[in-house]
Amino acid sequence: MNIADNLEAVRRRIDAAAARAGRIGSDVLLVAVTKTRSPDEMGLAIRAGVTDIGENKVQEITEKFSPVGMLAAKERAGARVKWHMIGHLQRNKVKYIIDKIDIIHSVDSIRLAEEIDRRAVACGRMMDILIQVNTAGEESKFGVSAEDARPLIGEIIEKCRAIRVKGLMSIAPAADDPEDVRKYFREVKEVYDLVSRDADGERLTAEYLSMGMTHDFEVAVEEGSNLVRVGTGIFGARDYSG
Ligand SMILES: *Cc1c(COP(=O)(O)O)cnc(C)c1O
Repeated sequence: MNIADNLEAVRRRIDAAAARAGRIGSDVLLVAVTKTRSPDEMGLAIRAGVTDIGENKVQEITEKFSPVGMLAAKERAGARVKWHMIGHLQRNKVKYIIDKIDIIHSVDSIRLAEEIDRRAVACGRMMDILIQVNTAGEESKFGVSAEDARPLIGEIIEKCRAIRVKGLMSIAPAADDPEDVRKYFREVKEVYDLVSRDADGERLTAEYLSMGMTHDFEVAVEEGSNLVRVGTGIFGARDYSG
């Protein structure tokens, strides 16, 4: 298992998928998903060129934030890595990560947005978020429906002054054949295209369409994703037993 080789292979597959869609691979941001990985493993990935890391649990972020920050400063000549919160976020935990995270991918309610806003105002920053959209209905618990995404964005822009909405995120249902989830990605892209028409370039931009994980990122990129979240494909299978 060589993280640098895996990373290179994932990047090549992104390039090829982007080319099939008439785009270029460098327009697709690769977020390395590091849940369950140690700071040392994360340091290896950063050494191999990872600039953006994704975590899905508040506790892992608070535990790894400073050791990884130190490793990153060493590997990247002082430049920091960007932290993406990609998992479901409970309102009572926003306060623990508000000063650490660069972007939250999983906003799916006005109440969560208002808590993020309140905490962002308190620490004097703007927070970038994505709206999590769930086009697969019952199969996934979190996220708003395609119809509810734009009304939610409108309400957030109106009520939350310390939030910038930067696009959409989606998690496709698990499928043996990634072709089976193409239709879900396509629906999210349709919403994203409408959002880009609403965009004002400040509080609302269509900068990121976060779709695609290890088993389906090529299909996601073909359908318009410009941010993929890849864990297993870079680090190997996760071991949750520890
Ligand atoms: C774990 C996770 C990923 C990465 O999954 P892999 O299959 O390991 O690539 C991507 N997105 C979210 C929201 C995750 O929780």
